[in-house]
Amino acid sequence: MSRIGRHNEAHLVARIGWLRAAVLGANDGIVSTASLIVGVAAAPGARPSEVMLAGIAGLVAGAMSMAAGEYVSVSSQSDTEEADLARERRELAADPEAEHAELAAIYQARGLEPATAREVARQLMAHDPLTAHARDELGISEVTAARPIQAALTSAATFSTGAAAPLVLAGLTPAGQTEPVVSIGSLIFLAVLGALGARTGGAGMLRAAARVTFWGALAMAATAGIGRLVGTAV
Ligand SMILES: [Zn+2]
Repeated sequence: MSRIGRHNEAHLVARIGWLRAAVLGANDGIVSTASLIVGVAAAPGARPSEVMLAGIAGLVAGAMSMAAGEYVSVSSQSDTEEADLARERRELAADPEAEHAELAAIYQARGLEPATAREVARQLMAHDPLTAHARDELGISEVTAARPIQAALTSAATFSTGAAAPLVLAGLTPAGQTEPVVSIGSLIFLAVLGALGARTGGAGMLRAAARVTFWGALAMAATAGIGRLVGTAV
């Protein structure tokens, strides 16, 4: 029986590394919750309890939406991979000759001599036919998903961690100061996180920090503007 290597990491985590996935989740949490808080706080006459309620609702809604999205995405990727592997297993059982020729053709297309390609295909299929076909024909090197619940919980947790930062700031800030304190504080969190994420990915820290700070500032400016407009109108 053939084995395809399994690992425990969640979907997004498997793709980009756990620290960067955590940074991105936290980033989402900060931007959306801070924007929500700033937007509500910008409405004239907004009470501190209303601002906090909006922030808490934003945390819960965002965490649930991240969890649901990740669950669906991981599940469907997992289903697709399982179906591909099942089909490949059937084909290998039904017509090993054709499968050998198929694999040899793949290696030949990658630059091996025809005789070498046939020999490589023969040896790899003797060793582990399903893994050879999964990797070189389907492009599946490991079964990535299989843990949609874990992926969902990871996303919800990283989002909530990020969302907690502006929420705590809002809770500690005296009424009337919420807008500047939450927006400036959140931009600092974003810059630090952006630099950290870039550092782990080997990219430029300053540019990454500037990028997330820019988009965060834009999001908060937009919701503050809307909060002020709508808050004045109602
Ligand atoms: Zn095949």
